[in-house]
Amino acid sequence: MPSRANARTHRLITRAALALFTGGLTLAESAHAQSVAPARFVAPAEPANARWWKGNTHTHTTNSDGDTPPEPVARWYKQHQYDFLVLSDHNVFTDPVTLASLVDSTFLLIPGEEVTTAFGAASVHINALDITRVIPAPTGRSLLETVQNTIDAIRAERAIPHINHPNFRWSIDTTVLWRMKNDRLIEIHNGHPIVHNEGGGDSQGMEDAWDALLTRGKRIFGIAVDDAHHFQGEFAPDRANPGRGWVVVRTPSLSRRAIVEALDAGHFYASNGPVLRAVRATETALTVQIQREGDFKYTTQFIGPHGRLLGTDKSLTPTYTLRGDESYVRARIIDSAGRVAWVQPVFTTRFVERHP
Ligand SMILES: [Zn+2]
Ligand SMILES: [Zn+2]
Repeated sequence: MPSRANARTHRLITRAALALFTGGLTLAESAHAQSVAPARFVAPAEPANARWWKGNTHTHTTNSDGDTPPEPVARWYKQHQYDFLVLSDHNVFTDPVTLASLVDSTFLLIPGEEVTTAFGAASVHINALDITRVIPAPTGRSLLETVQNTIDAIRAERAIPHINHPNFRWSIDTTVLWRMKNDRLIEIHNGHPIVHNEGGGDSQGMEDAWDALLTRGKRIFGIAVDDAHHFQGEFAPDRANPGRGWVVVRTPSLSRRAIVEALDAGHFYASNGPVLRAVRATETALTVQIQREGDFKYTTQFIGPHGRLLGTDKSLTPTYTLRGDESYVRARIIDSAGRVAWVQPVFTTRFVERHP
């Protein structure tokens, strides 16, 4: 007859064996799943006859805290070969109708606003792209609620929201970014000098935050913008001058709705320097074609879940071939001046979109 202690030991051993067994099964199952179904890129549908259009979605004028009126601001972008521009004043609708003389087949103005609110010490700045009237800045009982109310107010107008400079005043970290809904665009590079793109200390840089969100299953795309305020006087690193970050959007036509919907769907790359000729994904490979400038040289990093470096390619047609376990792959093209182009994540069959 077993002692009470022996019986307990037996139960413990049985439980441990069961745990080992089921653990083993899980491992075997996942190994089986991997051998049966290696990851394949779910390549975004490429619109027919699509072209690349360069634009900036975040710029200020004297209608809020910029130093230059809307007309010369828009003219700066047109003269610098931008195809489109969003004037995004704080809580003001700078109506492009008044600038109609600048608009032609080569230059489009998309109406916008930087919906600007706060919760406590945290700044909540969210751009609204393609608006028809001013969107009043909402409030909320928490930071998350303030952010969500703002996104919802923008979506209710059929406009497209993008989350601005989350590290400005260290306002919005990944715990909040993860919990917000119905947002697809986040600034990973903002040209304003005091927005802390790179993070530091105990705060994540925006690219690391982006990978953290993608790794958890948030389908979110990274944009680069100017957030320009200063078109007068000296152009210097400590001033908010134009020309520091942009997006290049792939659509068949240069029209308001086509551009903002392509942004919301991730059909673009972001840059503060390198120019790309093409980004193509097949089921198993992601290839970028870089347009070489002068004698510049380039290094491309392919990045996957947890921000892991999956591969490096130093050619002008960098290619990444799927290993089979990736849930997404994105590319980062660095030129020999240190400037970067950010290719949007291409998701695979292993990516499971999750919501908080
Ligand atoms: Zn702002
Ligand atoms: Zn701004």
